[in-house]
Amino acid sequence: MSQRDKILFLLPAAAIALVVLFTVLLFAGLAMFKQAFHHDADSDITEKTALVALILNPLLNQGRLDEARHFCDHFNRDALRLSLIRVDGKVEADSAEKADLLSNHLNREEIQAAIAGAPICVTRFSESLNQWMTYHAVQLDGGNREYILRAAVSTDRTARILQKATLTAVFALLLGGALALALALYISGRVRTPLRALNHALTAITDGNLDAPIPIPRAGIVRDFATRIAEMTTLLRANLAAVMATRNEQEAILNSMEEAVLLVNRSGDALRVNRAAAALFHLADRQVFNLSRSGMPDLLPHVQEAVKTGQPFEKEYELTSPSGKTYLLIKGAIIAKGDGDCLLLTVTDLTRLRRLESFRSDFIANVSHELKTPLTCIIGAAETILEEKDLPPEQMQKLVTMLYEQSSRLNLLVQDILSLSALEHRQNTLNRKAPAVALDAVLGNAIALARENAREHGVEITLTNSVPIEIPGDSQLLEQAVGNLLSNAVKYSGSPSIEVSLSRQNGAAVVEVKDFGIGIADEHKARIFERFYRVHKERSRALGGTGLGLAIVKHVASAHQGVATLTDTPGGGCTFRLTLPIPAATTPKA
Ligand code: ADP
Repeated sequence: MSQRDKILFLLPAAAIALVVLFTVLLFAGLAMFKQAFHHDADSDITEKTALVALILNPLLNQGRLDEARHFCDHFNRDALRLSLIRVDGKVEADSAEKADLLSNHLNREEIQAAIAGAPICVTRFSESLNQWMTYHAVQLDGGNREYILRAAVSTDRTARILQKATLTAVFALLLGGALALALALYISGRVRTPLRALNHALTAITDGNLDAPIPIPRAGIVRDFATRIAEMTTLLRANLAAVMATRNEQEAILNSMEEAVLLVNRSGDALRVNRAAAALFHLADRQVFNLSRSGMPDLLPHVQEAVKTGQPFEKEYELTSPSGKTYLLIKGAIIAKGDGDCLLLTVTDLTRLRRLESFRSDFIANVSHELKTPLTCIIGAAETILEEKDLPPEQMQKLVTMLYEQSSRLNLLVQDILSLSALEHRQNTLNRKAPAVALDAVLGNAIALARENAREHGVEITLTNSVPIEIPGDSQLLEQAVGNLLSNAVKYSGSPSIEVSLSRQNGAAVVEVKDFGIGIADEHKARIFERFYRVHKERSRALGGTGLGLAIVKHVASAHQGVATLTDTPGGGCTFRLTLPIPAATTPKA
């Protein structure tokens, strides 16, 4: 039982205790009164018996039994009942009843005591007189000690008063008990039960269940109290909802930011991190994180310095991981908090930017390099023509041919660069709304265009499998991609035959261009789709390759939401595969 319950039950318990105390006192008083009364009654009757014995003894000694009988029979019975009894128990005379009608009195307690020589007073209910009586008997000395004098007084009134008082005390005890019980029940029903229910609800609320209803009793002293608490909880809920909404909003903003954001203390412990920060530092949910484990050894000293000086900072850091280098721009801003200054770190990932920058400079270097060779040849040939007026016709023919070839190469290069740039702009733009392209027709056209050149190189192109598939897209681009793959296989593989196929696999159209030639070594495979990447640089240039063919293939595939991949042909050679997803609407029902 809780302290509160103890206090609540103290009141009825005190009431019960008081009732019990009063009853005990009453009983004790009654007992004392009874004792005193009996003591007085016993003394009185003993004295009176002795007095009557003084009268009767001479009569009996003188043989005047009849007078003694008469004395007893006619004694005022209201003052004292007198009985003259023989030692064998026979009643000789009695002031209350006719002696003949009375039974033998030998077994009466007071008679036995008198015969034994130790007279006593006995109080008992007299069946014959129908009332409470106190008896006292003595053996009379006169008449050869053959008679016993018994005196009796009525104690009925006092006994009945005492009985009434006892009944009243019992009644008072029962009434007091009932009142205390009623009080306990009232307290339990109106106070304790609602308080317990209230306590349960408040415990649920403190445990986080804010929706726990507050029970309000219909009446009773707890009602007002419960109503106030219910109002307070409603207010609390509303305030908390507002705080939560603001917090969720902030969290949503923080988490939707591309920049990683961390709130760190002067020891470098992260107090809060957003989703981007958790991803950047590979943090599991609620994982404790310290900047010393950031992989940037000089970050923590900078943070500590900034907290110490109160100066914000901005610095670029390099993070090296198995997946490569990451370039980060970290800005630190001081935030004053009650328990010490903190630093808000905003981390911007510059890796893409850096890669783009290096990609751009590589691209410019590559393009310049690719342009330089044909331009040098063109300038050289043009200079010779201009300076040598009398060039023999064959020489002139050679130089003009060179001019034509190198300008064609330049033209091809420029065309490929333009194609690539156009494709970059169309990245993923060929959506479902693009016109439907029949891939089998695309393959047919590309093969027809490549066949002439293939034949010149003694290569046979075969269409091994073709199913009618339509996808939304650009037929020209797709033809260009397949054409590039065919021309590469003809130019570089040295394979006498090329197999082309179109099939449907896992909801995608798969175009395969397979040769059985020299193949591509594993170390080149990862980079083969990069711009200007060549396996055999000189051979490619000599064969008029721009180094952009496969990059264009890759971009065409990705413009159609697909991918271009390279695998080895079993037994030797390359298999280039274009996997182009077929939108659900154009997938025929099974
Ligand atoms: P290029 O304009 O030089 O043909 P590509 O991007 O089309 O440029 O091809 C890149 C390089 O991949 C080529 O230079 C060539 O070395 C190699 N290559 C492409 N296709 C094949 C093939 N089927 N077999 C062997 N090597 C190939």
